Amino acid sequence: MASVGTPEQPLRVAVIGAGPTGFYAADHLLRQKDVSVSVDLYDRLPTPFGLVRGGVAPDHQKIKSVTRVFDKVAANPAFRFFGHVEVGKDVTVEELQAYYHQIFFATGAQADRSMGIPGEDLAGSHSATEFVAWYNGHPDYCHLQFDLSQERVAVVGVGNVAIDVARILCRTPEELMATDIADYALEALRHSRVREVYVLGRRGPAQAAFTTPEVRELGEMAGAEVVALPEEVALDPLSAAALAAQPDKSIQKNIEILQGYAQRPPGDKPRTLIFRFLVSPTEILDDGAGRVGGVRIVSNELYADERGGLRPRATDRTEVLPVGLVFRSVGYRGVPVPGAPFDERSCTIAHTGGRVVDPATRAPIMGLYTGGWIKRGPSGVIGTNKPCAVETAEAMLADLAAGRLAAPAHPSPEAAERFIRSRQPHYFTYADWQKLDQHEVSRGAEAGRPRVKLTRILDMVKALGR
Ligand code: NAP
Repeated sequence: MASVGTPEQPLRVAVIGAGPTGFYAADHLLRQKDVSVSVDLYDRLPTPFGLVRGGVAPDHQKIKSVTRVFDKVAANPAFRFFGHVEVGKDVTVEELQAYYHQIFFATGAQADRSMGIPGEDLAGSHSATEFVAWYNGHPDYCHLQFDLSQERVAVVGVGNVAIDVARILCRTPEELMATDIADYALEALRHSRVREVYVLGRRGPAQAAFTTPEVRELGEMAGAEVVALPEEVALDPLSAAALAAQPDKSIQKNIEILQGYAQRPPGDKPRTLIFRFLVSPTEILDDGAGRVGGVRIVSNELYADERGGLRPRATDRTEVLPVGLVFRSVGYRGVPVPGAPFDERSCTIAHTGGRVVDPATRAPIMGLYTGGWIKRGPSGVIGTNKPCAVETAEAMLADLAAGRLAAPAHPSPEAAERFIRSRQPHYFTYADWQKLDQHEVSRGAEAGRPRVKLTRILDMVKALGR
């Protein structure tokens, strides 16, 4: 019998999750000169690209051009895409193990974190992740509705997702028209009555999680002013000392930009984005009819914890922001993948250097690997997933070289395809996706937009003429 990793018997790998990590892992494995690898990439959606399609803001088209790199990976004859196949539902990990030597989990962080304050479940209180998935046309979220008849909105958190949400709420219909935002979201936002968007940071401007281009871009919106309070964006002594000890150009730049916003003379654009720092929501108030009627916030002060990190501490000063809609943008959260051991504390798959381990003994589980947000938590930009995926792929290749390899009963690509077809006869191939892609792009061209997305799986099936 040929040894595994040769052209006669390639290393057979299943990657679960067709986001950036899945593609970067496939790319690294398929690039090997001395080892033959064949990769099947699975996704529960018919469409690939994970957060590049469903998370990256529609007005950030340039970031989405990374899909050209993924198209090149998919052009490799040793690569196959199985879209619309849900691991844990259509097939189990245990079943896949009969067809693959190695399985790589790259399922991302599909849920959101909550703030743990009263009123979070009121109508009109949403997670930013839901709103993002909705405006990006994710099939699981396209039915949602957001009450954009409200004039005031609070976005809690000052990460890049909070900035995306606030910016989309502030964009003019003309600005949104130039994007691939879902048609229904474009329509809803066209009729939006939102006037003021509060963006709430629990710590100061020096601790904000957003990046400089994102905060700078806010100042260039066609229909919205950006406001910050001078006293809240002034550098406090603790942050000043921390910056003096460890200078950081991007933090300096963020503060400069925010202080610039605080000094801007009042403008006359129809919408206003208002930064508030050193405030925490303590309660979302009921308007008496089970809907959001406001947010009570408390002013914070910073203190240094035992490791020198600057943490927020509530003072006795509170106020109520009269908002009718709240988006909490306090981070994504990983969810368990059936068949992989889950660390409930970090909401990630238990692993060492990408090798999935038994959480109790930390012993590697033969043939199981992980990468991306489900490996390290929801942080970093798209490119951060490349070295993360490569680290794991290198561990996989090292295990192959050392003979630490599962022995699947049916390692041929044909056997896997037959099995998948028996479970999900309507799976989507990469060629199917490319047809959908062309379909969306040509619908977009008719409307002068980059693409008009198909947002319902049934419509995707129909577009393929099935
Ligand atoms: P994030 O960067 O981790 O930011 C989370 C924010 O929520 C922080 O400001 C955090 O404040 C705050 N927060 C957490 N718990 C809170 C609470 N209980 N009350 C109030 N505030 C709370 O997460 P993210 O914005 O979801 O972004 C995820 C990753 O995707 C990030 O790495 C981000 O850069 C990336 N991303 C990038 C782009 C882009 O490049 N354009 C766009 C979107 C997302 P503390 O710091 O005080 O904890």
